[in-house]
Amino acid sequence: MEIMLASGNAHKRAEFARMLPSWDVLLPKERGIEFSCEENGTTFIDNALIKARALFRVAPKGTLILADDSGLCVDALDGQPGIHTARYGMEPGGKELPSGQRNALLLRNMEAYKEMSQRSAHFVCAIALIADPYRTFVVQEAVDGHIAFTPYGKGGFGYDPIFICDEIGQSMAAASDALKDQYSHRGRALNHLARLLEEIRENAKTL
Ligand code: IMP
Repeated sequence: MEIMLASGNAHKRAEFARMLPSWDVLLPKERGIEFSCEENGTTFIDNALIKARALFRVAPKGTLILADDSGLCVDALDGQPGIHTARYGMEPGGKELPSGQRNALLLRNMEAYKEMSQRSAHFVCAIALIADPYRTFVVQEAVDGHIAFTPYGKGGFGYDPIFICDEIGQSMAAASDALKDQYSHRGRALNHLARLLEEIRENAKTL
């Protein structure tokens, strides 16, 4: 069965595809679907729902929709960048910075915090699932960690080189895909939805 991800992010798609091996995870553009929305919610859950609903309106009837809104919340920065994680350091009306520049900016803003114990952070992921017009499910999860002093690791994407996962003891970029999927904010959130997805598939078979 197919799931359409309300995103243009190939990295997120790769992670969802890895974690949902028995599903066909598609991006809207692969089906020629133009999809855009203003992520103007005040929480991760608001923004996941905004994306999911925007795609649901334009996707073919019967398509299962998933939307993910994620962000890095740093305790020393009062939870920032939070829901603005993608836009961190961006000029008003400008373009999002490349990941390397955003990571460098965050490390500069953390320079005053010289002890690892002052650098605690959380990666948060809200996932919205729309099964049909009357069935919407939302879950938010998080993984606890610390901001590294320098980026390291070659895997993952985005902030992975500077986010040390407490349970893994390495940056997410240095961890294997399997470990990232097991412990990450996205892996944990999706784990909660896995049973629901199976139920939806079973119900579809009996219709
Ligand atoms: P959004 O959920 O697409 O708004 O993305 C939020 C921001 O967090 C983007 O800049 C992503 O690159 C970053 N991000 C989301 N998930 C991850 C992850 O698993 N690792 C590292 N960075 C991530």
